[in-house]
Amino acid sequence: MSKFNSVSLGPPIEVFELNRAYNEDTFKNKVNLGVGAYRTENGEPWVLPVVRQAEKALANDESLNKEYLPVLGLEAFTKAASLLLLGANSSAIKENRVFGIQSLSGTGCLKIGAEFLHSQLGCSVVYYPKPTWENHKLLFRNTGYTELREYRYWSDKNRGLDIKGFLEDLNQAPENAVIILHAVAHNPTGCDPTEEEWAQIADVMEARKLFCFFDCAYQGFSSGDIDKDAKAVRYFESRGFEMFIAQSFAKNFGLYNERVGNLTVVVKDNALIPHLKSQFTLNIRGMYSNPPSHGARIIAYILNNVDLCEQWKNNVKTMADRLIQMRKELRGALERLRAPGNWEHITNQIGMFSYTGLDEAQSEYMVKKHHIYMLKSGRMSMAGLTSKNVEYVASAVVDTLT
Ligand code: PLP
Repeated sequence: MSKFNSVSLGPPIEVFELNRAYNEDTFKNKVNLGVGAYRTENGEPWVLPVVRQAEKALANDESLNKEYLPVLGLEAFTKAASLLLLGANSSAIKENRVFGIQSLSGTGCLKIGAEFLHSQLGCSVVYYPKPTWENHKLLFRNTGYTELREYRYWSDKNRGLDIKGFLEDLNQAPENAVIILHAVAHNPTGCDPTEEEWAQIADVMEARKLFCFFDCAYQGFSSGDIDKDAKAVRYFESRGFEMFIAQSFAKNFGLYNERVGNLTVVVKDNALIPHLKSQFTLNIRGMYSNPPSHGARIIAYILNNVDLCEQWKNNVKTMADRLIQMRKELRGALERLRAPGNWEHITNQIGMFSYTGLDEAQSEYMVKKHHIYMLKSGRMSMAGLTSKNVEYVASAVVDTLT
């Protein structure tokens, strides 16, 4: 009799399961629109040229060693990352009211932030958008949050933001509830609030004394411009919010498996920073002790060098532009093939994903019949499209809908 007899089989994680099925599929024209990872026009993963260059330089630097990093990470990285997000004009940066903590990509930053708010401020209520990235719920639940609530975000009817429902739900939230806001390029809908809508959201957050936790996984992926894509975060900062921002560098540096992220923390009173840092240190020490160095060194090397930073911004623009181009081609093909319905939303949406409007049964049909791998929610990753497969995908949508 095993001690583990009571352990039940957990459900699979949809996106990883889909990837596995795709890899095992022997169909010649299969297409992977599941995973949120950038692909080139040939459908290949892309190591950014500027990252390769940095890696070569770091490999040749014999002064670097394999000693542990500090618990809160590499300062040359965290400082550059927070500056990239908040911008040189940020009053919080000028007034030394900001610090960063290097953690294990965006997920790790969300985790240490959630843990801190729970253990230090007693937060147990979290709100995230409906729909959202599927890991938010699991992460906050595993951290001990007992109230996992959704705020309305997407309107199926208008295929756009339900700002009325969004504000109503925030208005009902109790003081100190943690509110997850996607900073840019909302996953999975590809639909962000406008500037006026962000102002309305900030008004409610302020009036209801809610805690603002931005999830910033796609800076640069919406417009191709790093500064433009930081505008929601910078706006909240300019209004004096205290907040956490989980920055992932998986997508915009293509460093998915290096697990490099930065939790930017903005506070009102810089005298409290040593207190916060000491408590984060204890939390992290008890979780994974300290972060890995490779990804952080690459990013610090690039961001702290004017020429390399420029090259990196061009690499980001290359990725964003290709996604925008794929949206145009997909919409064009759907309209040319007379797919029933209106397809404007494909080009109105931004970032890596398109929330196509296909329902669960239709999305499953796309996988089973056409070998086009996409999430049940109807989410397609635009990165998996190429000029060579877009026509095939569009014709499969037509078949599915007719
Ligand atoms: N948040 C959102 C909205 C995401 O889409 C992702 C990745 O897909 C993440 C956070 C975190 O990803 P990672 O931990 O790989 O940085």
